[in-house]
Amino acid sequence: MSLIVQKFGGSSVADTEKIRAAARKAVRGQQGGNQVVMVVSAMGKNTDQLERLAREINEHPPARELDMLLSTGEQVSVALMAMAIDALGHRAVSLTGGQIGIRTDSSHTKARIRSISTDRVRRLLDAGNIVIAAGFQGIDDDWNITTLGRGGSDTTAVALAAVLGAELCEIYTDVDGVYTTDPRILPEARRVARISYDEMLELASLGAGVMHNRSIEFAKKFGVPIHVRNSMSDAEGTLICSDPESLEAPVCGAAVTSDEARITILGVPDVPGTSHDIFSRLAAERITVDMIVQNVGRSGKADVSFTVPTKELAAALDAVQAACTAIGADDVLCDERVAKVSVVGAGMARQIGVADRMFQALADAGVNIQMITTSEIKISVLVQQDEARVALRAVHDAFGLSQVPRDEARRDVLTVERASEGNGRPDAADIVTRLRETDMEQLVIDDVSLDQSQSLVTLHGVPDRPGVAARVFREIAQAGVFVDMIVQSHHGDRQRTGLSFTIPQADLQRALETVSRLATQLGFDSVSHVARVAKLSVSGIGLRSHTSAGTRMFGGLAAAGINVKMINTSEVRVNMVVDGADGPEALSRLEAAFADVRG
Ligand code: ADP
Ligand code: ASP
Ligand code: MG
Repeated sequence: MSLIVQKFGGSSVADTEKIRAAARKAVRGQQGGNQVVMVVSAMGKNTDQLERLAREINEHPPARELDMLLSTGEQVSVALMAMAIDALGHRAVSLTGGQIGIRTDSSHTKARIRSISTDRVRRLLDAGNIVIAAGFQGIDDDWNITTLGRGGSDTTAVALAAVLGAELCEIYTDVDGVYTTDPRILPEARRVARISYDEMLELASLGAGVMHNRSIEFAKKFGVPIHVRNSMSDAEGTLICSDPESLEAPVCGAAVTSDEARITILGVPDVPGTSHDIFSRLAAERITVDMIVQNVGRSGKADVSFTVPTKELAAALDAVQAACTAIGADDVLCDERVAKVSVVGAGMARQIGVADRMFQALADAGVNIQMITTSEIKISVLVQQDEARVALRAVHDAFGLSQVPRDEARRDVLTVERASEGNGRPDAADIVTRLRETDMEQLVIDDVSLDQSQSLVTLHGVPDRPGVAARVFREIAQAGVFVDMIVQSHHGDRQRTGLSFTIPQADLQRALETVSRLATQLGFDSVSHVARVAKLSVSGIGLRSHTSAGTRMFGGLAAAGINVKMINTSEVRVNMVVDGADGPEALSRLEAAFADVRG
């Protein structure tokens, strides 16, 4: 008999009528011939209320006690759900995370799942019950209750679907599916029929709150198809699977986050090991860092900027201050009034001129770009917070995201059934073996690779005003040069920024001619280049959410005295650029650094 997992978010169980409606869906699922596991969130805004209560009593509540409190929200809703199913004349049993045997580590309020036992759930299912699991919670080795982080019920649902070998994980929520951007911010956003795991992973971690990003790590790792749909209707939603919606469209979605702050460290000595010192201190506090950009100055000193979640800014600043003292940096600045606007698409790696389209749209909207980072699958820019919505709308329009991609319109819509059969989904036995061997949420590295085909170009003293990046990358695209990595650094307290990018070595002369021509027109100081750089890439699952990944990388290279010139991070891949001569040594250091977590 097939098994499905149905997860209901807070708004879908906000009152007793909604709980009854969810119960009816589960019963229908069972009557359709499936075993049904429900995962339920706390009712409505209950978790927010509990958090508020805690902070009224204690501004800094002990994390263990916070978990004890927050987990009660889900305990209420699972019990009510079981009662609702009973009232419909069907059998149901509710279970807490601990009763199921969802084992986690002990990092309260952001615990990671280590393992899940399936025996009790299977027994209850086989006896004809609908099993109702409390989302977002587990227990550690000492039986302390832990929670997985806000929004974590999605992760409970997909993890349960993985261990139980479910056919499908349905995520019932208050929107019709995954949209090209948050439909509450832009009403013109379009529901996508399908989105790939990698794209959803990036979007989720870049601000698309519809899915908890770690749930997508599980889905990808264990090949679980997810159907995101509206709990108030029977309409088709969005299928998250291995296939993107379109093979042609460069961008599938856009996202914005306003809950990150920028930190800039001025005057970092440009010698190997300084980045390692800074980022390992942040990793030790388990602070996720994004948009790492360094701007190499002339005097052997660099400015390093990056973003951290605003709620972790104070802890991050403490760690950074300690690093500054240790490495002898000059000063630390921070800014909370920033927003990160990103576009994501599996197709962008194959096309020229995607970045310049985004930069042009922002320039046309009069939005100044403070920082840029790109990777194969996303482009992120940092802008002033009060311009976030204008910026989001500008890029959403520029990529025509409200329209169905041309090739999607022609393709047969992939059905859920087909997705769950094919696409190399690991079989249940394989999954179980893997789970016994590793922690379920462990970092997994698929590949470490070296690309020695690129050059690095840096424009120094670029004026900080709208339109400059757009112009540079438009002209370079017109010259037919494919730009791979781009970073624009923050200028600290100066009025000029640095803009670096990598291109194929064969195109170096053409690119240099193009930018030299622009130097006077745009008013930047000078251009420098490194003819041969080495790009190291580490790809896998969990690279951003596992803060230790950066420590391994920077640590491995620092120990070999290798200086990192440029870096970009995404959920599935981290790229680092080093001097060409250091390439092979850097590769072997990185291979060694990840040897124990190779997939
Ligand atoms: P639940 O309580 O069901 O888990 P959430 O509030 O966590 O629901 O997630 C649903 C919300 O996510 C939507 O109401 C929507 O405002 C927001 N959202 C953000 N980005 C997107 C997106 N790209 N597509 C759909 N919804 C999005
Ligand atoms: N109730 C938790 C929260 O509000 C978990 C969830 O809903 O996913 O964050
Ligand atoms: Mg949610």
